[in-house]
Amino acid sequence: MKRIGVLTSGGDSPGMNAAIRAVVRKAIYHDLEVYGVQYGFAGLIEGDIKKMELGDVGDIIHRGGTKLYTARCEEFRTPEGRQKAVDQLNARGIEALVVIGGDGSFRGAEKLTELGYPTIGVPGTIDNDIPGTDYTIGFDTALNTVIDAIDKIRDTATSHERTYVIEVMGRDAGDLALWSGLADGAETILIPEEEYDMDQVVSRLRRGHARGKKHSIIIIAEGVGSGTEFGQKIQETTNLETRVTVLGHIQRGGSPTGFDRVLASRLGARAVELLLNGKEGRMVGIEKNEIVDNPIPEVLKQKHQVDSGMYKLSQELSI
Ligand code: ADP
Repeated sequence: MKRIGVLTSGGDSPGMNAAIRAVVRKAIYHDLEVYGVQYGFAGLIEGDIKKMELGDVGDIIHRGGTKLYTARCEEFRTPEGRQKAVDQLNARGIEALVVIGGDGSFRGAEKLTELGYPTIGVPGTIDNDIPGTDYTIGFDTALNTVIDAIDKIRDTATSHERTYVIEVMGRDAGDLALWSGLADGAETILIPEEEYDMDQVVSRLRRGHARGKKHSIIIIAEGVGSGTEFGQKIQETTNLETRVTVLGHIQRGGSPTGFDRVLASRLGARAVELLLNGKEGRMVGIEKNEIVDNPIPEVLKQKHQVDSGMYKLSQELSI
């Protein structure tokens, strides 16, 4: 193998730059040429592809976002679109592609493998919702961003004796809500994977208020429903002054934490090693602090599981 490509696709996450850097540097270390594809699969179809040198990935390990930009691309969902993408790669003699992204991007990568084109997936998403890895690149940074925001909200919540409902990202996965809720001692954590009982939420709030609690924090993952509507319901039912904060896209940005930088460096480097060893169609991940790799179709067949033991613990600690 002489030439490989790398792209970032789908939702961005902090640490994607560190992963790009690791892919580029590891490849050059092993005398490979590396080509950066801009704007994900959309750029691939358009041929937005440039050779990358060591210096192109200098000074990016600590930056959020992705230097290669990212995009969503409907055309790539069609066989014609994917053929155009493979033609662009073949025209440049690029023999394999590293795809940094979420599960949607891996469905795209899987389709390339079906066309006989070698790909390796590197999991980058703040949602931590990908099977085959304990952590995805960006989750730890997003978690710390959410914790920082909740700490600040907690200060003002205490001053005003209010109840705060905080909506965090996570359409299908409650990891960000659960971890941040546990880390911040939230009274209630609502995640898509677990049913909740409104009466219990309300009675817990009332109990806390009755024993003199100055404020309450409720974390709701976006997949459960609108934080704004939930906050209105709480205010109407309890008569406690309630405010809602939707954290939104600040959760996607920011300088990656040390954990995410190290994870991205290890995963990006392993992706290149796999290609050098003739492996393809696999996703790299971390399990029990070991770097592992699994077939992408197997990863996509599984469903990410939230840690139900941790959910139970969060309830026990917030009585
Ligand atoms: P993420 O990778 O963050 O989950 P998306 O779900 O938006 O993001 O997927 C990113 C891109 O991957 C899509 O815009 C599309 O180009 C491609 N993709 C997703 N699913 C498929 C699929 N089933 N077949 C082909 N390409 C897909």
